[in-house]
Amino acid sequence: MGAMDKAKRAAMAAAVNTALSYLSKDPEQNIPKLMDLVDRFSPDGWYEGQRSAIRNAIREKGNWWQLIERVYELDPGVRDVFFRNFIVNASLNGSAIQEDIAKRENCNVPWAVLLDPTSACNLHCTGCWAAEYGNKLNLTLEDIDSIIRQGKELGIYMYIYTGGEPLVRKADLMKLCEMHPDCEFLSFTNATLIDEDFCREMLRVKNFIPAISLEGFEEANDSRRGPGVYEKVTHAMALLKEHNLPFGISACYTSVNYNDISSEKFFDHMIDLGALFVWFFHYMPVGNDAVPALMPTPEQRETVYRRIRGFRETKAIFSLDFQNDAEYIGGCIAGGRHYLHINANGDVDPCVFIHYSNCNIHDCTLMEALKSPLFQAYHDNQPFNDNMLRPCPMLENPERLQELVKATGAHSTDLQSPESAEHLCEKCVQYAANWKPSADRLWEETLEKKHK
Ligand code: SF4
Repeated sequence: MGAMDKAKRAAMAAAVNTALSYLSKDPEQNIPKLMDLVDRFSPDGWYEGQRSAIRNAIREKGNWWQLIERVYELDPGVRDVFFRNFIVNASLNGSAIQEDIAKRENCNVPWAVLLDPTSACNLHCTGCWAAEYGNKLNLTLEDIDSIIRQGKELGIYMYIYTGGEPLVRKADLMKLCEMHPDCEFLSFTNATLIDEDFCREMLRVKNFIPAISLEGFEEANDSRRGPGVYEKVTHAMALLKEHNLPFGISACYTSVNYNDISSEKFFDHMIDLGALFVWFFHYMPVGNDAVPALMPTPEQRETVYRRIRGFRETKAIFSLDFQNDAEYIGGCIAGGRHYLHINANGDVDPCVFIHYSNCNIHDCTLMEALKSPLFQAYHDNQPFNDNMLRPCPMLENPERLQELVKATGAHSTDLQSPESAEHLCEKCVQYAANWKPSADRLWEETLEKKHK
């Protein structure tokens, strides 16, 4: 590290400590000071839109302000660690390292790694690929530790667990939080294994945030996940809230539940439950047993798109719409562009929905995986469409994934019932054709607004 780097890092460390003191109390006084500090240390243009949105929120005291106040109610230790790990390590320092390495190596280097600690699950939800995978596969503690060590060398400080039910391995997950206190861990979970003891563990390690699956109100949730699950989930949320722990919700919209889960009533319900963020996913027809009829129609997808954007202006919850938000990040984020997925068998997939690969983390390094044929093909072909409402090489451009898989010789990593790319993409052809006119119209609207 050169003298300049050392000086810069010392200045950054001092700034982080000042920022943390601003975070400790009195948001009205301190958030503007914090924003000045962020401006001073941010590269030109870095999240300019978001930064000005935060400033406006403070001025207008609207929904974003209410969200900031809710963040101030969190356990101070957990909030500080989140700020250090997520903002400073993963986003400021980490992104700079990722960019340098990506340029040097001519490949994608992601911001986050998604991984399945286990394929086991304690529930058996209809349509869930985890249930279909059987229940025998695990990444060992050593496997995950090695992935994180390699990731940190590449500037990756964000790790997201999916599965299976990750909390089946909750003791190991807490150990990993302790082993890597500079990383932030987020876990998709059905929440049924969150209890008083686990909340205490989360308070102890400070760097673990659950994203709890909810399919809608009680009846819709339990018809997919099983009777009594909704009650357990809301009990877990109440426990987390009681301990001032942060959590979010993940919700998959389908042709059946889209109306409920994008409704104002559901947004208010999530806020009442104490969620700080919600991550919406579009139903994907992945797997030989998938049900294409669950894919939303163009009208249904447009309803979700418009409602989520509308509620961003009025509700005190941070919402992400995985399939409709590509405009904010320049298209498909898979193949290591912003993230990749490692399943419980160690196969390195480009995306949690795209189960094809040329490599397994037991036989290669993370960097070798990023340079493997399918990952390189993602790197060379992204974005897959200039219309950011048609970002996916499977869902909206099904011919693209078939080409990539064929050209790279990638194999199916579905362990239960391998599915060919042709079979998968065939299910999306009609969907893609139906969605195109709406997507083109909505994208036109977006471009017009931007140019005003
Ligand atoms: S492959 Fe498709 S689902 Fe996965 S990140 Fe890219 S656009 Fe999204």
